[in-house]
Amino acid sequence: VLLTHSDEVERGISVLCRIRPLSPKEIRERSDVCVQVNSDNKGVDIVVDDYLEGYNGTILTYGQTGSGKTYTMEGEIEDMEKRGLLPRMICAVFDYMERSGEHMQFMIQVQFLEIYNEKIRDLLSPEKDNLKENGAERGSRKDQQQQQQQEMRSTGGRPLSFPLKIREDKTGGIYVEGATSHYITTELEASSRSHSIFIVTLEQTNTLDGSRKKSKLFMVDLAGSETVKKTGAEGATLKEAQHINKSLSALSNVIFALSEGKATHIPYRDSKLTRLLQEALGGNCRTALIINCSPAKINESESVIASKDFEIEA
Ligand code: ADP
Ligand code: MG
Repeated sequence: VLLTHSDEVERGISVLCRIRPLSPKEIRERSDVCVQVNSDNKGVDIVVDDYLEGYNGTILTYGQTGSGKTYTMEGEIEDMEKRGLLPRMICAVFDYMERSGEHMQFMIQVQFLEIYNEKIRDLLSPEKDNLKENGAERGSRKDQQQQQQQEMRSTGGRPLSFPLKIREDKTGGIYVEGATSHYITTELEASSRSHSIFIVTLEQTNTLDGSRKKSKLFMVDLAGSETVKKTGAEGATLKEAQHINKSLSALSNVIFALSEGKATHIPYRDSKLTRLLQEALGGNCRTALIINCSPAKINESESVIASKDFEIEA
């Protein structure tokens, strides 16, 4: 397999490929390497500078389980050299705020969400099990009112709805109703059957001229791509596989429609994932899609499929 780097930068979308080293297991099994990296330029500029300038952006990692998606996003937090995109991005934002003059005021918020079986869950919510609750099981209106009052007490006056709903505000902004925003990061076990989405919202106010900028960056560690196109996918239930399939194909349809440039209808509404990312995919937004691959021969077919899903030459 020869993996090269397709560049759609003029449309704000770049598709990149990252190949991890052979794993200890692959080495023990004496697996052949089937990937040749055909690039002198191994470094890649991701969308962060434009984000600081006020553009919305999305960074996604795509690939089979074990291919290095979470490593690319999070990396090894303790080792500066091996930090992933998320801690680097947070550092870049704080550096930028420090470098800016006194006249600039900032507000930064983070959200951490998970989409599992087409339901959105707030990973930073104090309600640990907000996925299990469901409006349909709530019974009478009076029960609902009582429950909502309880929820409002437990969340400091803010009503929550379960599962979380995607809403659009008057200015066309997309937000998740009731999702908590925090000023901290949490280490959480992310499952390979769900998409985890870290959102950083930066608001900048120039106190000299009163101008404001607001930008959102979505960092998405996608569910393992191996379930796509396989019905009896190992370990995943059929329902999980179908949901993952639906959202990953919706994502590739949206990315294709955007990269063709002429499509009038962009099918954002086909999945929760694309709906949530709507304000940061297309238009003026910057998108980087990272295809993660194992270099091992035994994973060749998955690497080929993952690259073809986004038309990287394979
Ligand atoms: P995924 O999230 O796609 O399931 P992980 O990010 O958990 O995969 O990576 C699988 C394993 O490979 C982990 O043990 C991780 O530390 C290791 N790994 C992934 N990418 C790299 C890399 N670029 N360099 C070194 N080790 C890596
Ligand atoms: Mg992972």
